[in-house]
Amino acid sequence: MQEHTTIYFKDYTPSPYTVDTCSLEFIIEESSTRVENIMTIRRQDPTAKVLHLNGEMLDLELLWVNDILYSEDMYTKEEDGLILPLDCDDARIRIINRIYPDQNTALEGLYRSGGIWCTQNEPEGFRRITYFIDRPDVMTRFTTKIIASIERCPILLSNGNLRGTATLDNGKHLVLWEDPIPKPCYLFALVAGDLGSITDTFSTMSGKKVDLAIYCDRGNEEKCHHAMRSLKKSMEWDENEYGREYDLEVYNIVAVDSFNMGAMENKGLNIFNSHYVLADEETATDGDFMGIESVIAHEYFHNWTGNRITCRNWFELTLKEGLTVFRDQCFSADMNSELTQRLDDVRALRERQFVEDSGPTAHPIKPDHYIEINNFYTATVYEKGAEVIRMMHTVLGREKFRHAMDYYFENFDGKAVGTEEFLESMQSQSPVDLTQFKRWYSQERTPTLKISSEYRSGSAELVLRIVQMIPKNTKNQDQLPYAMPLRVALLASDGSAYPLQSDDVTLMHEDVIWLENETNEIVFTGIPIPPYLSLNRGFSAPVNIECSELDFPFLMAYERDGFVRFEAAHQFGIETLEAMMNGGEVNERYIESYGAVLQDEACDTMFKSQILELPSITTLMQRQTIIDVVSIVKAQEELKQVLAKRYRDVILEMIDSLYDPTNTDIDGLSMGKRSLKNRLLGMVMSLGDKSVSALCEKHYYEALSMSERLSALDLLENYAPERASKGLEHFYTLYKHQTLVMNKYFSLCASSRRIGTLERVKALQSDPAYDNKVPNLVRSLIGSFARNPLAFYDISGEGFTFVADKVIEIDALNPQIASGLAGAFKNYPKLSMEQKTLMGCELERIKNHPNLSNNVYEIITKILEAS
Ligand SMILES: [Zn+2]
Repeated sequence: MQEHTTIYFKDYTPSPYTVDTCSLEFIIEESSTRVENIMTIRRQDPTAKVLHLNGEMLDLELLWVNDILYSEDMYTKEEDGLILPLDCDDARIRIINRIYPDQNTALEGLYRSGGIWCTQNEPEGFRRITYFIDRPDVMTRFTTKIIASIERCPILLSNGNLRGTATLDNGKHLVLWEDPIPKPCYLFALVAGDLGSITDTFSTMSGKKVDLAIYCDRGNEEKCHHAMRSLKKSMEWDENEYGREYDLEVYNIVAVDSFNMGAMENKGLNIFNSHYVLADEETATDGDFMGIESVIAHEYFHNWTGNRITCRNWFELTLKEGLTVFRDQCFSADMNSELTQRLDDVRALRERQFVEDSGPTAHPIKPDHYIEINNFYTATVYEKGAEVIRMMHTVLGREKFRHAMDYYFENFDGKAVGTEEFLESMQSQSPVDLTQFKRWYSQERTPTLKISSEYRSGSAELVLRIVQMIPKNTKNQDQLPYAMPLRVALLASDGSAYPLQSDDVTLMHEDVIWLENETNEIVFTGIPIPPYLSLNRGFSAPVNIECSELDFPFLMAYERDGFVRFEAAHQFGIETLEAMMNGGEVNERYIESYGAVLQDEACDTMFKSQILELPSITTLMQRQTIIDVVSIVKAQEELKQVLAKRYRDVILEMIDSLYDPTNTDIDGLSMGKRSLKNRLLGMVMSLGDKSVSALCEKHYYEALSMSERLSALDLLENYAPERASKGLEHFYTLYKHQTLVMNKYFSLCASSRRIGTLERVKALQSDPAYDNKVPNLVRSLIGSFARNPLAFYDISGEGFTFVADKVIEIDALNPQIASGLAGAFKNYPKLSMEQKTLMGCELERIKNHPNLSNNVYEIITKILEAS
């Protein structure tokens, strides 16, 4: 067994040496790449005598220290780096090493994606390129010289500004890049290959011209325009909202097919998963277009929150990620609809982060230990991290938040800092003390607010009782109550809110309570009649609410806060479905309230589509003590049928008026119409009616938008299998050469509720379009299967065995993708005895597999220990 070492936050110390400059030369050849690295090293700790350089899977050829060639007995070479005696304040180290990008299937460091050489160095990939002090608090000025064949690699890119090009003998050329701004090595990037591109320019607020380019596989250039528009909008938005200007002469984006993450914010040279760049009306869904706009913005915003101000160590990851997700969410809200964006964000948070937070891999947004940092690029660090920032935004208000951000940029630009420095910036403008608020950074799991009320007619008072229920952490230790802003309203029968007056609590803005105590009793005065409660408006705090007094039908009809209106429908749906799962009848009031929203003509179409979505399987699974997928799906389908039967004619009429097959515009109204139409078609498809299946089939063949076609195909797959095969064949024939579309195909097949899905997925692995070295394809086929509750939790246990086989197989190629897949087993503690035994065997089998990566080991042991 190999060792799996745990790294602790408390052990952090500043680096004894730093690297001031690094001059790199890459000679790219077909089978290997030669790297020459000249570093100027400066001692920071006068007592230091030994320099540790990180390095993995490198062939070291030559090493000089201050121009003296070192022989092998003058240093120690280990699996993970070099140990070098160095007792001086300044040194010049020159290293020549060789790497093998072709053999790099982990996709960290320099690797090949198709015919393109590209890099991914966050968090610790740079040590697979050359020896270096690979930690984010070492910030260096990099220059990069790249030499490669002109024919093979006409495009040679790195960070910073272009400083020179030259044609060399024997068909090679050279390009020199210089990045004037110091950065940690995880932001280093290099791209070489034969790529197509589109270009544009942007004039910054101070009038500087920036050259913009997006590179992709030749032939895909026309699919880059949406990404380019999104980039320009992001640059403008960051200037308007935060006064932040771009700082280099060029901004390049490169789309590659094989990429572990969504995208990477390397300084001046973003490298993207092609899924987040390439789109046109024929091949991309509305969701794809929205995703591109948001990820392009996210990576761009990192230039200030992440690159110029970076993290002191990887425990501080949320410093850059939580903040940048918050920034991209606000950007998307401004570009589209604030309400629908918020609902999407909350939905994603609850479906992913709340699930993570209640399971074996729960961790605080700022973890205090890890075995493999790659396992912490999680919904918690990102999405909950963004909610924590949003709470501060709510507390400070827009203007003060901007001032606090100015403070942050002014004081910490060019530095590697931590969340403490960020909180210091927020505190500088905050009307309340944020000391207790900091617990959001160090505690885990989702708190629940238990809320009840009492109306006192004599004094026209409403007493609100709020108790914070704080779950124990994963180590079974007690945790402390939080400080949080809670938006509430007391509503009159027409939906208008009474002004809030109270002596018991800090009231910030008109409807925000600052909550600090575990138990709170707040008396609101001047309430003439018993009001309706509206709680956690706008989802102001990332918590669960437990309150038996909420009037769902009233809130669904009259509440003006979109989130609470949505939430009432959502909670009412959960209540209705759970009653059905316990053998009860369908609640008539639910059917009526649902119908009222359905027929509300004043309601925005996208919002209507969101509010009419029934609670998901994930939501309901979360609430079960012992997971029972079959009963959930049965109740969902029954409820769908009841609603569809009751409102059949209305729904069919609405589908007819919403359907606009030639419209492929991506404005809010067009997307809203498609989304609502797809939702309604799904409702009536559940009736198994031949005329409706025929309509669905017509939409598949006739509509020009991928959103409609894919949705129709999915409905045929699940409700009209006799029509599905023809459609699937048609789809496959059209798109078998377009990997991005094939991802959708694999995902659709692997998510199917039909019997035999496992066999189909197994067979699809040998499809010519599938490749287990391409992360997107693995996520689409195997990942979708692992998220398909009916197939994965099948009583035979065969779903578990299959996914375990894949975890082991893929771990040998790409540990990061394998550990993501291993997360599928997170519900282990909540399974029935029989299923638990079956899954337990598979978990043990993975754990005992020789040469298991840190990535998978950490996830699997956490899951096993939680039980
Ligand atoms: Zn990010």
